[in-house]
Amino acid sequence: MAAIRKIQARVKEIISYSDTVRKYILQPAKRSFDFKAGQFLHLAMDAYDPSFNWPESRVFSIANSPTRKDFIEVLVSRKGKFTGQMFEQLKAGDEVWLKLPYGIFNFDESLEKDSVLIAGGTGISPFMSFLQFAIDKKLNPVISLNYGVNNPDLIIIEDLIKEAEQKLENFKYNLYIEKPENGNTKLKFNKGILDIHQIIRQSRELNDAVFYLSGPPAMIENFEQTLKNSGIKQQNIKYDIWE
Ligand SMILES: Cc1cc2nc3c(=O)[nH]c(=O)nc-3n(C[C@H](O)[C@H](O)[C@H](O)COP(=O)(O)OP(=O)(O)OC[C@H]3O[C@@H](n4cnc5c(N)ncnc54)[C@H](O)[C@@H]3O)c2cc1C
Repeated sequence: MAAIRKIQARVKEIISYSDTVRKYILQPAKRSFDFKAGQFLHLAMDAYDPSFNWPESRVFSIANSPTRKDFIEVLVSRKGKFTGQMFEQLKAGDEVWLKLPYGIFNFDESLEKDSVLIAGGTGISPFMSFLQFAIDKKLNPVISLNYGVNNPDLIIIEDLIKEAEQKLENFKYNLYIEKPENGNTKLKFNKGILDIHQIIRQSRELNDAVFYLSGPPAMIENFEQTLKNSGIKQQNIKYDIWE
């Protein structure tokens, strides 16, 4: 496990996908930190003074790969007080403090095994890290990405999906869009919400695949149960609950 580091970072860019979803691209002051694809960090907007406690923070999955760590990216969904303050107050050029790495949701097993990634909405974040990592490390096992969004503007990773299609031998994806009429995409998609039964059927041909779930708690509970009912072993089900 990498040592926990506290580092200062500057907001380089903020990309807005909707009123409630943004990507923050952060430029770390030092590169003396490490993390694994799928791990998360603490982000504080107040300055950290080592002689006092760590300031108020929230945790966010790291959306870029450790193989591309000139910047640190987080995808933020506006929910309550803290993320509201981020949306209202944090601007390009501002300083933030980060504490990382944390979490056991990572993709060590998938370096050799087939993997089925299932993400709802901003739950795509840890899989952005993993896909970049898989591309950079030229991973060979099957990676099946299953991604559900409300409308095409929220497909945060259109370019990354195209890059994975070009560079990964065994990459496939199923995109589910609830309201495809509210935007445009060049990617192929299914209309509707993530269909766990379809995902399981399509995964039958895979070899002892690991299923990774990331998204709202209700989705994870429901999908985990359905996976177990269909005979997927508990040790092959991993999840990241954002609560
Ligand atoms: C492993 C993990 C990964 C996550 N990754 C992401 C991500 O990539 N993107 C994303 O948008 N969200 C992510 N979340 C959720 C995120 O951390 C926040 O919980 C969420 O954004 C809630 O919104 P808020 O903080 O604005 O709400 P708030 O209303 O400010 O607080 C929500 C909750 O935070 C806790 N809280 C309250 N005060 C404090 C305090 N002083 N210090 C610490 N906690 C407090 C309480 O449990 C409270 O109910 C993740 C959560 C987990 C556990």
